[in-house]
Amino acid sequence: MVAFTLVAGWSLIALRTAAQEGELLRSGYLPLSLALRDAVADQDAWNTQLNHVTTAANPADKRVWFDAALAAGRPRTFAKLRAAIHRAFQGGERDPSAELARELTQETADILELGSADGQSVAQLFEALARGDAKLAEQRRAELVTRGARIKGRLGQLEQRVQARVDALAGAAQRREAHAFRLLVALLMVTSLVALGSALRVRRVLAPLARVTARARAVARGELEVQPVLETADELGELAATFERMVAAIAAANEQLLAADRLATIGKMAAHVTHEIRNPLSSIALNVEMLEEELAESPERSEARALLQAIQHEIERLTALSEQYLSMARQQPPNLQEEDLAEVVREACDFMRLELKRHDVRLSLEVEPDLPLVALDEAQLRQVCFNLLRNARESMPEGGLIEVSVRRRGAAELVVCIADEGVGFDAQDASQLFEPFFTTKGQGTGLGLAISRQVLEAHGGGIECHARTPRGTEFCLSLPITAAGARPRAVTRGSDRPHLASGGGQTT
Ligand code: ADP
Repeated sequence: MVAFTLVAGWSLIALRTAAQEGELLRSGYLPLSLALRDAVADQDAWNTQLNHVTTAANPADKRVWFDAALAAGRPRTFAKLRAAIHRAFQGGERDPSAELARELTQETADILELGSADGQSVAQLFEALARGDAKLAEQRRAELVTRGARIKGRLGQLEQRVQARVDALAGAAQRREAHAFRLLVALLMVTSLVALGSALRVRRVLAPLARVTARARAVARGELEVQPVLETADELGELAATFERMVAAIAAANEQLLAADRLATIGKMAAHVTHEIRNPLSSIALNVEMLEEELAESPERSEARALLQAIQHEIERLTALSEQYLSMARQQPPNLQEEDLAEVVREACDFMRLELKRHDVRLSLEVEPDLPLVALDEAQLRQVCFNLLRNARESMPEGGLIEVSVRRRGAAELVVCIADEGVGFDAQDASQLFEPFFTTKGQGTGLGLAISRQVLEAHGGGIECHARTPRGTEFCLSLPITAAGARPRAVTRGSDRPHLASGGGQTT
């Protein structure tokens, strides 16, 4: 742009100067030169007439011509000359030609002054001719011829000076034009080079855009694996990185949708099957109970009683299983209330303590003081805690310690971590732990962690698991601290504790 502005600006100035000079030549110097040429021609005619004046057959006719030339011709010629000089040097004192203008004006006045004696000489010439005084007539004619030659000579010099000035101006204009042409070519070359350089640079800068576009098309076709196509530190690199983050987010959202969809379908099936199974199961259980009662009276049928107990045990297991399926099928959106998360966890731990003790498992609970209230569905969260505590217990068949902690993580969330010293999990199982029906237990359903994840995500939080060293597993639940809950707890959980509903009882 700078190069273009320079070229355009300079061209304008050059054009304007050329136009001014052309105008000066056309309406100034050219009419002046013509006026001078006319004056020289008039004077020439005057001189020619003088040559034959003394030998003319009718001098009176000649006198009429000379009188007309003196009275009208000459004054008109010089008036035209003065006007032409004035027009040619309108620039006034500041014009570099002002000096020449003064000289021309002065010289014109001097020439006119020199010719002013002609009137008297012409009168004396014709009077002498009328008297027949040939000698005096010849004397006056010679005087007039000499003066006429001087006037013509001085007018000729003036014409030459003006012509020289015109030539100088034309030469300067020619030189300036050649100079302007060279400069213009140079500027055009610079402009072209700059334009070419810019085009190449833009091409080089934008070249990676094609890769980003191809990647965007691939994503549109459904290729959602993250693959950085551009690792530069410029804007395009940033764009590509942001795009890949977006792809990752879409892939994660897709996976969540799939999982939720799968769970929903399973839920419907489970609800249907469970509904079909529960009624027969409860009548089988009732019949088994009645049979047991009958057999209780005949001690010799102990083998039959043992069989019945095994059946009873299986019925109980099937009932528990159907309960779990139903709970998933009935999974409702959480009814969020501002609650004390630590208190919910403490209650779940207390509830599980007896079961844990029976399996030689100890439990420690550590709660960071002054935690804010968070929006949660107490029943759902308690169920998640039960699932995780039970899993932790089952991972330590020989007993051990479960460490539970509730604390803040950053400014935006609370976390509950449940860590055990159990068998841990295989690296290859890590990605499947939260998949529905993934279980490594003989009698497991593989639903506990899937349901837990669903609950946490519905709360706007998450669940993650880490392997512990030297052994064991840690599961951490995170819940966002909502704006209303982001204040230290003022009251402890109890019958008088206020239950604050946030945002109409539903927040995400
Ligand atoms: P289930 O307990 O019925 O198997 P879950 O969804 O609760 O279903 O757990 C899925 C699987 O995750 C378990 O079978 C087990 O392999 C693994 N898992 C869960 N909790 C733990 C834990 N605390 N330690 C080791 N593995 C665990």
